[in-house]
Amino acid sequence: MEINGTTRTCGVFGNPVEHTMSPAIHNTLARETGINLVYVPFHVENDKVGDAVRGAYALNLLGCNVTVPHKMAVIPYLSEMDDLAQKIGAVNTLVRTETGYKGYNTDMPGLYRAMTEDGIRIEGERIIILGAGGVARAVALLLGEKKAEELIILNRTEEKARAIAEEVNRVSGRNFAKAMKLADYTKLPEEKYLCIQATNIGMYPKTDEAVIEDETFYRKIHTGYDLVYRPAVTKFMQLVRDNGGRSCNGLKMLLWQGVIAYELWNNVSITEAQADAAYAAMKKAMGIE
Ligand code: NAP
Repeated sequence: MEINGTTRTCGVFGNPVEHTMSPAIHNTLARETGINLVYVPFHVENDKVGDAVRGAYALNLLGCNVTVPHKMAVIPYLSEMDDLAQKIGAVNTLVRTETGYKGYNTDMPGLYRAMTEDGIRIEGERIIILGAGGVARAVALLLGEKKAEELIILNRTEEKARAIAEEVNRVSGRNFAKAMKLADYTKLPEEKYLCIQATNIGMYPKTDEAVIEDETFYRKIHTGYDLVYRPAVTKFMQLVRDNGGRSCNGLKMLLWQGVIAYELWNNVSITEAQADAAYAAMKKAMGIE
């Protein structure tokens, strides 16, 4: 593709941003869809988020992704919020409108799409979330909406898990979620669970760590879904497999949140083949074959 006078620009705001895989997704999709667009990383300091949004708009950027730690900080600078982003309280995608940027959250639909593709069911399932940070909260809302039977949120800081459990019970109108202190995992009933790993433990470079290391916990897990994607097989995933379960990493969630953002910016529908090409480009950028 030739960069010329009509090339549109998109990018990602983050701090740090140097590790991002998003350029591999979007520049591949631009090539696959024949749209004259480039996607670049923007390192945005924490006290410059407002300047970055105003600057992006002034420079006619078509859209942006927003990553850690700016997903909430960006909200006051937007002209509008999509309903789902409002409900989640975090924005990872800015879409240009006549009056400013509209904030969306494509992480949650991205995770749902990824889980569906991996054949993982939510409805009627007993589910554990490890962690109670920003992503765990969005995941808990998704599980409520998709009719999980039971949700146990295990977190080091129990109050944060309790706040999420109370909120999702209120929003879903069902008393299906409860909170536990991480160290109390030994008190879990003898059931089989789908477990979503939503802490940052095990992420590169500390790849030899898992938030729970005790194998007796993993015997209760039929499927482990780690939102971490670097390394491709985390210690959590390996522990699930060693104890007879199946496990997936967060790479497909990353892919689909990107695909959905690209569709919003360009008003197109990405085909399976185009998404496969973006997935292959991500894996190549990460050195995974
Ligand atoms: P966050 O808001 O900072 O939350 C971090 C969570 O990890 C908290 O629950 C925290 O517990 C827990 N934690 C951190 N250090 C811990 C430790 N030493 N022991 C026990 N628990 C610990 O982060 P986030 O934004 O929710 O992101 C969480 C993970 O999701 C990250 O690894 C991120 O890479 C991944 N993610 C993946 C995708 C994707 O597309 N695949 C998208 C977004 C995020 P406390 O509450 O006790 O501090």
